[in-house]
Amino acid sequence: MKSVYLDNNATTYMKKEVVDAMLPYLYENFGNASSKFYQIGREAEQAVASFREKIADILGAKPNEIYFTGSGCEADNWAIKGIADAYRNKGNHIITSQIEHHAVLSACEFLEKHGFEVTYLPVDEYGIVNPIDVEKAITDKTILISIMTANNEIGAIEPICEISEIAKKHKIIFHTDAVQAIGHMRVNVNELGVDMLSLSGHKFHGPKGIGVLYIRNGIRISNLIHGGGQERGKRAATENVAAMAGIAKALEIATNDLDENIKKLTEKRDRLIKGISEKIPYCRLNGPVGDNRLCNNVNFSFKYIEGESILMLLDMKGVAASSGSACASGSLDPSHVLLAIGLPHEIAHGSLRLSVGDDTTDEDIDYVLEVLPPIIERLRMMSPLYEEVIRNS
Ligand SMILES: *Cc1c(COP(=O)(O)O)cnc(C)c1O
Repeated sequence: MKSVYLDNNATTYMKKEVVDAMLPYLYENFGNASSKFYQIGREAEQAVASFREKIADILGAKPNEIYFTGSGCEADNWAIKGIADAYRNKGNHIITSQIEHHAVLSACEFLEKHGFEVTYLPVDEYGIVNPIDVEKAITDKTILISIMTANNEIGAIEPICEISEIAKKHKIIFHTDAVQAIGHMRVNVNELGVDMLSLSGHKFHGPKGIGVLYIRNGIRISNLIHGGGQERGKRAATENVAAMAGIAKALEIATNDLDENIKKLTEKRDRLIKGISEKIPYCRLNGPVGDNRLCNNVNFSFKYIEGESILMLLDMKGVAASSGSACASGSLDPSHVLLAIGLPHEIAHGSLRLSVGDDTTDEDIDYVLEVLPPIIERLRMMSPLYEEVIRNS
């Protein structure tokens, strides 16, 4: 059966070069990077140092500003809880947005139970945060601003440079979740002007279970994970050397052919957007159009039907995609991101995210444009809401 993977904002396949870079550290060189009294331990330690250097180099950071974590979620949690704890004498106010990943939102909600106050900034109809709103929300108690570089559901790219100017002017620490940005846009910590930045390996063809938090020198941060002295005493856990090798290699590949990749992904994205808009009535593109949109993200709402039903029928045709509604995660609420851009509940429920990758072919896109319209039509035929629309037209 045909199999088309269009959920690259959820995770990506691992590149062969990435697996090859990891294998030596799973087999012969299994040494503990903290065991310095014998050769394979020292080799592991040197390998970790070289991966850290490579990542620092690509992001425009210094090696001692790069910390490995166990995931993107951990990097986000650490940034928020670690700064909150380290600067709680200075203030208890945090600014973020309504469309952040749950790793950021839930960490903020946790802090609210422990005496912190959080401003969740609204976004415009395309999902963009207004830098003026950021500045207005600042109080003398504000210790942290956290705004994502690019949104995972609707692909909105946020005005990070403008926000970082404001953060600098008011001497407030600025963190960005750049998990979706790698491989899709240029990411350099100095150009962005950020103080902290989160990454996740599996979103750019690296392994799962590894992330990075960049922390600019001079910033204090409390530990999230206590224990041994790894990561300069800031994040305990025996180094996952193979995963570190993988994320460093994946970052190198994602950055090497960036312009070429952006061009190819954008073409595929736009072919999907154009095809769906032309072939399916009563649909709405969610998120920005053009340059402010992640080059691999497509998100549509289809009136009168449910996102989950679309996913089920697409799955029967071999197409892997994702829905804006969170039913899959055990909740009946529609996506917080779609609600934040102002979609009514019933429309937010009927959403579909298709995210292309470097392995998406023109035939894959033709196939989706062939199978999707009859699926939407079939579901609408079963919808009492749609029946009414037809009757009244
Ligand atoms: C996937 C994702 C995360 C979480 O990364 P994990 O490594 O899966 O924990 C955080 N933020 C964004 C924007 C993401 O897309």
